[in-house]
Amino acid sequence: MLAFLGLVVASLLALGASAPLQGTSTRKKLLLVSFDGFRWNYDQDVDTPNLDAMARDGVKARYMTPAFVTQTSPCHFTLLTGKYIENHGVIHNMWFNTSTGQKLPYYNTQRVSAWWDNGSLPIWITAQKQGLKTASFFFPGGNATYRGEEVNIKRVEKGGLLHKYNNETEWRENIDLVMKWFTKDNLDFVALYFGEPDSTGHKHGPESQQRKEIVSQVDRTVGYLRQSIKDHGLNSALNLIITSDHGMETVQKQDEIHLQKVANFSFQDIQFELVDYGPHGLLVPKPGKLEQVYEALKDAHPRLHVYKKEEFPKRFHYANNTRITPLVLYSDPGYVIHGRLKVQFNKGEHGFDNEDMNMKTIFRAEGPAFKRGLEVEPFESVNVYALLCKLLEITPEPNDGSLNATQHMLLRSAGTAMISSPRFTWEMALVLGSQLLVWDAWSRLLAMGSW
Ligand SMILES: [Zn+2]
Repeated sequence: MLAFLGLVVASLLALGASAPLQGTSTRKKLLLVSFDGFRWNYDQDVDTPNLDAMARDGVKARYMTPAFVTQTSPCHFTLLTGKYIENHGVIHNMWFNTSTGQKLPYYNTQRVSAWWDNGSLPIWITAQKQGLKTASFFFPGGNATYRGEEVNIKRVEKGGLLHKYNNETEWRENIDLVMKWFTKDNLDFVALYFGEPDSTGHKHGPESQQRKEIVSQVDRTVGYLRQSIKDHGLNSALNLIITSDHGMETVQKQDEIHLQKVANFSFQDIQFELVDYGPHGLLVPKPGKLEQVYEALKDAHPRLHVYKKEEFPKRFHYANNTRITPLVLYSDPGYVIHGRLKVQFNKGEHGFDNEDMNMKTIFRAEGPAFKRGLEVEPFESVNVYALLCKLLEITPEPNDGSLNATQHMLLRSAGTAMISSPRFTWEMALVLGSQLLVWDAWSRLLAMGSW
């Protein structure tokens, strides 16, 4: 009888450990799409029938608040890790070394694993460690190695002047390949990146006709993507999230901030500078010069904010990292920071305060896990990661977000087969019931002394 009791307990333990119970996972696939620099209200002055249809069939956030600094690589790494930028350490689009003065531009920085792999694992690697197959298509962070492991399949954006970022045909080919990855290669998670409408927003400004046209192109691409998902029979097997990293602000060309012209300030006193990058600046004064530089700059321009690292406003969750320099600068919406020479000519820019409405971005989702026709209140992008992990049924790494911010988007049945938290299901009840029936018969036999 004790042996039999052991058998029952063992069966129940086995059930708990091997959820989901059906033998084949109920896990849905997940496609995370980012259209770089898609401001939250870009669909309000352009006809966007496909994004509208997606909102009717799924969930739309009024807007999403990105992390600060509102740059591409830092904000995408927040999506992938669920951490504020000071906690994941990818604090700038550019890799730099304050001792040697070396800097690398955005595309070259994609290859510098040490810049990305500094303590936080992106969701690709966490998912792979838990048995899933993943891919990155041009996604920032997708070209790095993390603790010796890289994403299963990747495509890396080349960058440079020759690459045409807004080639709609190429966008569709990229989607076709992603569909193949899901259907033929049976991937669980793909992160897919498009460099627009960011490029057009920078070049022509967020209020330009060109920006409206590229948003129409994004919308057609969303239509093509949704139709492809249908055509590949993935409708009930794949959850789709479309989001972005930040918005876009029109650049002010009057009353500009130009450090070279500030009285009592000299680049002679600076050991390392990273300025001329929109509204953001990092400075390392030469030894003994910090106070002097700080005093010269702090009231230099009413639109310029200069902080010692330790006094940088906590709400930005940005300065508490060893990579942040002793002085941190940022400027008000629309104003960029020029350094020695004026070399910034963009009509649109980002990198501003994440509370600036023009930095807010989009979040849309649909698929078997999501409610339909639901518009939700804004939330911070740091919470997206917890949602991705829930959808993929994986255990998240420690992060700064919470599923509480997004859980109300999900249907009750979504992601119930979490391996880390098996639920008591009908299958378990049936098995337990049948075991108890056997037990009962067994007891009766024993009581009858027929053994
Ligand atoms: Zn961006």
